[in-house]
Amino acid sequence: MRKLEGGKLVIASHNKGKLREIAALLEPFGIECVSASDLGLEEPKETESTFHGNARIKAHFAASKSGLPALSDDSGIEVDALDGRPGVFTADWAETPQGRDFAMAMTRVWKECEALGAKRPRTARFRCTLCLAWPDGHDEIFDGTAEGQLTWPRRGDFGFGFDPMFVPDGHKLTFGEMTPEEKAPLTHRNDAFQKLVVGCFAG
Ligand code: IMP
Repeated sequence: MRKLEGGKLVIASHNKGKLREIAALLEPFGIECVSASDLGLEEPKETESTFHGNARIKAHFAASKSGLPALSDDSGIEVDALDGRPGVFTADWAETPQGRDFAMAMTRVWKECEALGAKRPRTARFRCTLCLAWPDGHDEIFDGTAEGQLTWPRRGDFGFGFDPMFVPDGHKLTFGEMTPEEKAPLTHRNDAFQKLVVGCFAG
């Protein structure tokens, strides 16, 4: 497995919530991070139908445009009662002509569960794929999950995306009610990141 050797790393995301969490995960390693938006890179279209495929698109695009290693995150929530939807299309469920509306997307998820009379607990998981890509085309991929259940009405103003309707296993608070420090060790992103550290960070 290829190691990441010092120098700058591009965070290949334009999502502020993800950027915050990835920067916090990287901080203890003293890696110099720059975001794709800081470099003025566009967002490539996510044309694949898997987390791996879309993570690869984002990381390779940023690595080839910047000439630096780049780390991307593709993630989403899978609801068991909805046969895993919205999954890789999680962000799409929030799209409106005026921008992303996660209150609308969360309401849709809950309403679809209600319409099906889905049994409780309404189990779900966040999934994350991290892709670390180099400008020469090499990449390494890591997957993470966070298991939990949906709750309604949604609760909490912390976090982003679907955090206010997701209660991780073993906890009573939603991700949206947890501080960033409380949420961090429990996430799908952290799970994938720990594997990345073992695989690609020297030492
Ligand atoms: P994408 O990876 O850009 O396709 O977007 C993934 C979407 O999944 C985000 O826009 C969020 O709505 C959702 N998501 C991913 N990770 C989290 C999380 O940690 N909390 C809440 N929502 C998340």
